[in-house]
Order: sequence, then C-alpha cells, then structure tokens
Amino acid sequence: MTSIATHRDPWQQELVSALRDPAQLLRELQLPQSLLDGAHAGSKSFQLLVTRSFLARMRVGDANDPLLRQILPTKAELESTAGFNADPLQEAAARRAPGLVQKYGSRALLIAAGSCAINCRYCFRREYPYDTEPRQLKDWEPALNEIRANTDINEIILSGGDPLVLNDDRLDALLSQLESIPHLKMLRVHSRLPIVLPSRLTRRLVERLLESRLQPVVVVHSNHPNEIESDCREALSNLVRSGVPTLNQTVLLRNINDDSNTLVQLSQRLIGIGVMPYYLHLLDHVSGTAHFEVERERGKQIIAEMRCELPGYAVPRFVVEEPGLPHKTVIA
Ligand SMILES: *Cc1c(COP(=O)(O)O)cnc(C)c1O
Ligand code: SF4
Repeated sequence: MTSIATHRDPWQQELVSALRDPAQLLRELQLPQSLLDGAHAGSKSFQLLVTRSFLARMRVGDANDPLLRQILPTKAELESTAGFNADPLQEAAARRAPGLVQKYGSRALLIAAGSCAINCRYCFRREYPYDTEPRQLKDWEPALNEIRANTDINEIILSGGDPLVLNDDRLDALLSQLESIPHLKMLRVHSRLPIVLPSRLTRRLVERLLESRLQPVVVVHSNHPNEIESDCREALSNLVRSGVPTLNQTVLLRNINDDSNTLVQLSQRLIGIGVMPYYLHLLDHVSGTAHFEVERERGKQIIAEMRCELPGYAVPRFVVEEPGLPHKTVIA
C-alpha cells in the first residue's frame, strides 16, 4: 500500500495541509471575497495560517465569527498607532543567548520554534526576529550553558512560536538536555496547538511529559468558548486526565471576547474538563494590533462581572506585561 502520509504523524500532515490562502478560506466559509481588503498582501512575513480543525469550529457565512476574526488579515493591521511598536515588551533586552529570554529570576523562556500552526493577528511576537534563533540541537549550546551556569533558574518555559510544532524526536532531544541540568525542577510548555491542532497531543508526547524528571505544566491559549469544542475538548480532557496540570491563558480582544458572558462561558467550558483559567492578558502594544485593544477599565468591569457568576478558581487573573518588571502586573 502506498500513502504520502507514511513518513509523517497525522498531526504533521494536518499542519502541512493548513490553509494559507485567504481567498480559499473565504470560499470555504461561503463569505464574499470583498472581505479581502488587500491586507494580506502587506503582511508577507505573517500571512494567513489556520488549521482545518480550527476552521471546522467557525460558523459558515458569518463574517463576524470570533474565531475567524482572530486569524483573518485586515487592512487595520497596516495602520501605525502611537505607542504600538515591534518589541513593546523589550524582549530584545532580555535575550541572554540565542533562543533564551530571561526576564524573571527563577524562570527562563526558550524560543523553541519560530512558527505556529495558526497566525493570530494580535500576536505579541508577530514581529519577533525568529530567523536568528536556534534550529538544531547544537545551536542550543550557548543557551544551555547559560542555564547550567545560572542556578537561580528552576523553571524552563518552552515558548515560541509554538514549541509543539517541533517533532517528537527534536522535542525529546531538547528535553533530555534540560533534564540533565540538576537545578531545573519545572518544565512549562506554552502552546496553542492543543487548541488549534488537537491531534498534536499524541500518546507519545503526553507520556514523554509525564516520564520527565521535571514536573510538567502545560499552558494552552484559547480566547473564545467556541474553541473548546469537539476534537479540542477531547484532547484537552485526555491531557488533564493523564495527569498533566493544564492552565489556559486568554488575550482580551475587541469584538471577540470583550464581554463577560463570553468569558464566563469560556471559563465554564475549561473547568468542565479540568483546565484552569490562569491569565487574561491586556493586549501588548505590538504594531498592527491596535484595533484589537480593549480599555483597561472595561477589562476590570468584565472581571468584576465574572466574579459574580463563577467560583473563584474559574476567574483568571487580569494581567499586563510591563517591560522591566520581574513579574506580570495584576490589574484585577
Ligand atoms: C508571562 C511570562 C512568563 C511567565 O510568567 P508567569 O507569571 O510565571 O506565568 C515568562 N516569560 C515571559 C516572557 C512572559 O511574558
Ligand atoms: S499561537 Fe501564540 S505565538 Fe503563535 S501566532 Fe498565535 S499568539 Fe502568536
């Protein structure tokens, strides 16, 4: 029997067949091509990218679908707005070695991959210079040496891009290196793949995390209750039941989730499968994202309303990242 998929895991095949053509996306959603206002032409380095799984959770014929809005390039991105720039978090200043960002004393972030399975238009790293970050295991040596030498670091956060776009072998090789550093205790994985490409949560991956000497914590990223459906629900629930602590972070986004009903529903769906709401982020001021911004006061009001309807553990902390501070600032 021949199959073109023989050398790839199913999730890798799905990633290859993710949608990259805005015209095709609109056709499949039965939406007018006039929604393409020319924006995609201006964002060559950060083009449309969305998985079939995520697309399947969008409503056909609805130009305002909250999942579609997160990924469809629009002309508003081309506007420049005062106070919005390429690196508002000043991550460049916190770069300790290729791929290593350390802003907080006890934890360090590895930019483990330069791509994602979806391009979120509001992404805080949409302008990040991934080209200069490590590709192969040997490129990680300077970062690993830095971590070995700094015994204050006890937690590594795999970030990106999305660290879970790395295949199992490469992930395994990187984890093995980290596991050999005695002062490390915790391994955090920040990933949106469990949401947008649930098939990535293979048994092999989950077992690898559970077998690690390091305590794993997975932080997923979802913004709307419609994301926590079907294959995603099942994969997340399985992850939690396998014994991996799983948290969720959300970005507060105008016309997508900036009302308490939506966020209450999101929290309810998450806790219903054992995923704990962790952070609700105020938008970082990256160029091209100003049209997603929600006022801080509005966010506080939403959190206050959520508190009236949810148990305390289901209300995320409303936070903002301020450059130069050794932790996030809790607003509410
Ligand atoms: C938020 C953040 C972390 C993790 O912070 P916690 O508050 O421990 O979740 C780490 N690195 C960067 C760059 C961050 O923005
Ligand atoms: S998954 Fe995360 S890092 Fe990737 S584009 Fe979306 S927000 Fe950015």
